[in-house]
Amino acid sequence: MTAAKIPPLLMTVRNLVEQPRALQGEFSAEITTKDTMSRESDVESRGPAGSCFALVVLCGACRVAGWTLFALAACRLASAADWTDQRRWSDFQVMANFSLDGHQPLLDELQRLDDELSQLVPRPEVARPIYLILFHDETTYRRYMQAHFAGVPHRRAMFIQGSAPGWVFAYLNAQYATDLRHETTHALLHSRLRRVPLWLDEGLAEYFEVAAASRSHASPYLAATRRSSWLWQVPSLADLEQLDDTQLMTKPDYRAAWSWIHFLLHGPPAARVVLREYLADLRHIPDPTTLHERLQRVLPDFERQYLSHFRGWSTR
Ligand SMILES: [Zn+2]
Repeated sequence: MTAAKIPPLLMTVRNLVEQPRALQGEFSAEITTKDTMSRESDVESRGPAGSCFALVVLCGACRVAGWTLFALAACRLASAADWTDQRRWSDFQVMANFSLDGHQPLLDELQRLDDELSQLVPRPEVARPIYLILFHDETTYRRYMQAHFAGVPHRRAMFIQGSAPGWVFAYLNAQYATDLRHETTHALLHSRLRRVPLWLDEGLAEYFEVAAASRSHASPYLAATRRSSWLWQVPSLADLEQLDDTQLMTKPDYRAAWSWIHFLLHGPPAARVVLREYLADLRHIPDPTTLHERLQRVLPDFERQYLSHFRGWSTR
């Protein structure tokens, strides 16, 4: 890649790298990734080492480690791939090592996802672009990620964010569209909220990773959630809110997070209002009143309404 082709992000990051001291105090990095497992096994295959791995850099020592990771990435990204196609629209900048001709429908879908999410979490006044870095094949993707993010476990797709705009990395495969919707959801949320609780982050990403036409009635989680509702099983929202490590998230945790998002979006109108208010607070407050406390206040029988919601919700 020649200097002329270095994306603006990388030039920006390079400049940041030259001033690490000024930024170390505020730097944190988050990495969320999709797994390499086949989507056929989808819901049932998820586990602690499964679909979405996150590294949240919080403590001082880790900040240094995170900074190193970020700096290495920035230095090497600039001289790595020779992008075949680059496009910029709205909140997105995409770089691919293959022609994006024929891929416009998926890019348009990401824009619609952005628009839909914006109804819940409005765009900031000054939006930070989301960089989508796409590869034609897994081999090139693996080499690229190993070169730039040494030590990060291999996953089928990744979202990486530091103090600069978010990057989504993915390669063409059977689950490519799902991966891209999932990681882009993470990127959009993290660009708009001051903090994204883990259960909320994964619940929304699991919800929006399904194509729009199937999102509400044909999620792979729906049938199992409906069966559980007839067994009077309600996952504890309070317990989900305690999760802070994706590596400890279990398969049932992912499904539970998705189910609460589904209830909040498609259940009683008051529940959707509670979600919107919670998201609005998260834009400015890192640790607002929890969502389950808000639900208890507004809908004291919200767990019973959760059961009614799924018992009455049809699958396609
Ligand atoms: Zn995720």
